[in-house]
Parts: sequence; structure tokens; C-alpha cells
Amino acid sequence: MSNKTFDYIIVGSGTAGTVLANRLSSDPSIQVCLIEAGPGDKTPLVHIPSFVGTLMFHKTYGWNYKTTPQSALGGREILLPRGKILGGCSSTNGMAYFRGHPKDFDEWESMGNPGWSYRDVLPYFIRSENNVDYRQSPYHGTDGEMHISHVRKYNPMITPFLEATSSLGYPRCEDFNGCMDPVGFDVRQNAIHEGRRVSGVTAFLKPVIKRPNLTVVTECLVNRVLLENNRATGIDIELAGLRQNFIARREVVLCGGTYGSPALLLHSGIGDSNELAKAGIKTEINLPGVGKNLHDHPSAVVQRVCSNSESYGISWKALPRNALSVFQYLLTRKGQLAGNLFEVTGFLHTTEGLDRPDVQFVFMPANRPKPGFPFPVGHGYGINSVLLRPKSRGSVTLASSDPHQAPLIDTNFLGDDADLEPLLRGMRIARKILDTPQMNKYQGKETLPGVNVDSDEELKAFIKANMTSVHHPGGTCRMGDNEECVVDSQLRVRGIEGLRVADASVFPRMVSGNSNAPTVMVAEKAADMILGKTPPAPIDPG
Ligand SMILES: Cc1cc2nc3c(=O)[nH]c(=O)nc-3n(C[C@H](O)[C@H](O)[C@H](O)COP(=O)(O)OP(=O)(O)OC[C@H]3O[C@@H](n4cnc5c(N)ncnc54)[C@H](O)[C@@H]3O)c2cc1C
Repeated sequence: MSNKTFDYIIVGSGTAGTVLANRLSSDPSIQVCLIEAGPGDKTPLVHIPSFVGTLMFHKTYGWNYKTTPQSALGGREILLPRGKILGGCSSTNGMAYFRGHPKDFDEWESMGNPGWSYRDVLPYFIRSENNVDYRQSPYHGTDGEMHISHVRKYNPMITPFLEATSSLGYPRCEDFNGCMDPVGFDVRQNAIHEGRRVSGVTAFLKPVIKRPNLTVVTECLVNRVLLENNRATGIDIELAGLRQNFIARREVVLCGGTYGSPALLLHSGIGDSNELAKAGIKTEINLPGVGKNLHDHPSAVVQRVCSNSESYGISWKALPRNALSVFQYLLTRKGQLAGNLFEVTGFLHTTEGLDRPDVQFVFMPANRPKPGFPFPVGHGYGINSVLLRPKSRGSVTLASSDPHQAPLIDTNFLGDDADLEPLLRGMRIARKILDTPQMNKYQGKETLPGVNVDSDEELKAFIKANMTSVHHPGGTCRMGDNEECVVDSQLRVRGIEGLRVADASVFPRMVSGNSNAPTVMVAEKAADMILGKTPPAPIDPG
């Protein structure tokens, strides 16, 4: 590579990095370099939506992280999939498109972040979106790069499921991203277009990849940020086995994700000086908040198996349908391979006195895949209850000064006892839904937690022994205006010039929903800040 000096260096080509690469390189006079540790995204596993499960624990395309032994979970270590590929997690995630609850962003603003209220960030959500299903809605965009759509043909279990939730008095929510209080059940919107995944790469990077002022480097590990007199001047990288420096004339922007960005700051000597000393790293800036405030959405399942073959799954009964769906997909890009399996969701207040939903319900018209095989075998159905506003906080620290070594990720799942109650309430609601006549016709036999697990204590023990993550970690480089925060509301790392973080790690609190769309929004806003553009006028849709 001849040119090793750029105006902006973006570290990490995930959800946020791809957006920033597009927006910053839109000015041809600005030289932009985007660096990614993983390989390109050529594999069809990325692009066929129903293959989503094949990527989660992929040895080549993932970081294969797991938590430290979790004390509240009896020492269990929870798997934490993260994409290590062009597009990062946007190339490996479930493709569900949710922005979170409007109150989440008002809360961000109240935490010392002027300019991040819902009315301020809505124009950024709209900017990147292309959703022709809601052409007339003031909440949606149709000119952006990210195609968002509903699945065109639903699994037949979806109708009885929605009839079941309505029969219990739960409302429908026609548009989870298009109202001020999304509550209830309905089909979800997805980052899928014409039967293909819409990732950061396909939406934001590929269309501009030929720009002469944009350099994309894959299979390149960034070891640390170079600092001189409290200014970021570039990065120390490893490319094709060679260690070298790339220089940034203006800024280095970290988009390494909730685990990658704090790890990079720590390797650069930016973090809690005591912890840095333990890892054998010289402190450049004592910033104790780096890696703290880690939180994620835990989830507990109620699963039933059945002999009815309407659910997705591999079986003799479903063989003709499955075989047909392969041809249908190859010929038309339609059918069950064009979807991401989980088509319906719900957001509910599971108790009185809440200002927004505390549990998300994800209906799975499928058996749970067995460990080691990414597709459901046999037939069944289940509901995941996802805790949206966990109180537990964990941390990302370093095991050593070696950047090749995975960081120590302590999610502290259920570390705060208060996190158990909403999951318990969620499981009881899930059972109630599955016990309605509309769902009972499938005659499912409960495998998880099992009919004998019924008292509060038994269910809590089940949750501790079986809960998993739904992969929405955030908060480790939290944005705000006090000493515990890592970046300010302009996403500048405290005490250092020329260094920002722009990814899910800056969320001061995780949103009450899936986290890809809000990460795109953060990157859109970061691009305006970096380029010194006036923010768009706030929108008051309600
Ligand atoms: C299995 C799974 C399913 C999910 N499903 C959904 C869903 O359906 N809907 C939804 O909204 N959200 C979902 N999410 C969450 C969502 O995808 C993430 O919140 C979002 O992608 C985070 O974006 P990011 O830019 O912060 O990080 P990432 O997308 O993880 O990007 C970080 C990038 O930085 C690179 N990197 C890190 N460190 C270095 C380094 N030292 N050197 C070079 N490169 C580096 C990584 O390889 C990666 O490409 C899911 C996540 C996972 C893992």
C-alpha cells in the first residue's frame, strides 16, 4: 500500500464504520481509510437471510468471545457472537429493524447529551432508511441506502399467534418504528431487500467502494491508537504479518463495537490507570470509565415441540416444502429462505408503573437449533422473553497487553437481582400465550423449561441455568458529561484531541429494542459532527 496517510482513519467496518466510510468519503477532497480485522463478505452465508444461524458461531467470520464465568449464573460462561468480517455484526445479525423506544433517546439527552433527544435523532433514522411500506409516515424515510421491508410471505403459525395475543387483550402495533409508544404485538420490519440481507456493506460501502478517496483494508488488526501530546496521530496495525503505522491527519474514529472499542482504548493506554498497570500498559490518560457500564439484553425461553409440520424445520414431512423453497429462492429470491425465521415480536409493560415496555417477546415458529447445527431439526415453536432495561452492569478489561488476546468480558448477567423479575413475568406471559386455544391446537409438548418447572423459585433457577444473550451489548464507552463518561456528546474521547468513538459502545443506556438501527443513527450523527455540518432540524412527528 503506497499511501499510509489519510485525513480520517475509521477502525472497524461494522454497522457504524460502514456508514461513516460512506458519509466521510462523500467529499472527494477528504482521504478516508476504513480498517477491518476480518475478511471480505463474499460468502453466500451472509447474503441469504435464512442462513443467519450459520454465522453466529462461525470460526472464520466471528470473534468467538464468551463471558468470564458469571457469578449470578453459577459460573456459566455465555457465548457472545460478534462479526469479524466486512460489515461486522451487520453482516451476521438477525436483520430485525427496530429503533428503540422514543423515550430511550430523551433519556440519553437527560444523561448529559444535548442534541440526542428523539426529535433530534429522528431525522438521522430517516436519512439512512428506504422503507416503501410506510411512504406516507413522518417517521420513515424512502431516500436512504438501507432498504427496510416486511417479510412478504409469513409462516402459517403467525396468524394464530397474533390472534392468540389479541385474545388475551394485548394490542397490535402496526408500526414499531412509527409511533411515540410502540406497545403490543405484530410482524416486524427487517433489513432485507429482494430476498438478500441489507448489511452495512451492501447498503453503505459497496455503492461507494470505487471512490478514489476511500481505502478499505481487510484482515488487518489494529493494535492501538498512536498518541502524541494528548493527540491521536494514527494507528499501529498488523497487515499481512507486518507491523506498521497509518497516519491520520485529522481524526481516528473508533468503530470497533462494544467490546472492540474499549479494548483498543485500553491497549492505547487510555483507561483506569490501576487496571492498565495490572495489564502491563503505561497510562497515557487516566479515564476510569473505559470498559465500564457494559450491559446487554438477557433472554429466557419457553419452547415446545410438536408433530405439526407448519413450523420451519428439517423433517421428512417438510421435505417437499423445503426442497421446493430452495428452487423458489434460486429462481425468484422469494419464499422461506428469503426471510429470517422470526417474523413476529411484541413489546409489553409486564407490570404497573412503567413508562415504556420492559420485555420484548420474540415468537419463533421453529424448534431451537441444537448446539453445533445452525438449522432447526423437527418441529416446534417458542417465545423468547427479552429483558429490555437491565440494571446489571459489567465491564470489559484486558487480560494482558497482547492485542491478539481476547479481552475479559464480564457482562455480569443478572448480577442485580431486580433483573430476574421481569424475565419471570415474561415467561409467565409466554406460557399464557402458548396455552390459548389458538396456539394449543399445535399440541406442543413443553421442553423448556418443562411443565414441572412452575413455581417462581423453579423458574428463576431455570432462568439462571439457561438464559442467553440476544447480542445487544452497549455502554462501554458511554457518552455523557461526567467523569465516568468516556466520550462527550460530540463523541470525542475525553482529554484527547483527534479521537472519537462512534458505535454501540457510546450508548449511555441500551435502547429498549434491537441495536443495529440506533447504531446506524449514531454513525449518521457522528459523520455530521466530524464534517462540521449543521444538524438537521428536529422532527416532532406526534
Ligand atoms: C448474532 C447477532 C444477532 C443480532 N441480531 C440483531 C438484529 O436482528 N437486529 C438488530 O437491530 N441488532 C442485532 N444485533 C446487534 C447489532 O448487530 C449490533 O448492535 C450492531 O451491529 C453493532 O454495531 P457496531 O458498529 O457497534 O459494531 P460491529 O458491527 O460489531 O462492528 C465492529 C467492527 O470492528 C471490527 N474490529 C473490532 N476490533 C478491531 C480491531 N482491533 N482491528 C480491526 N477491526 C476491529 C470488528 O471485526 C467489526 O467488524 C445482533 C448481533 C449479533 C451478534
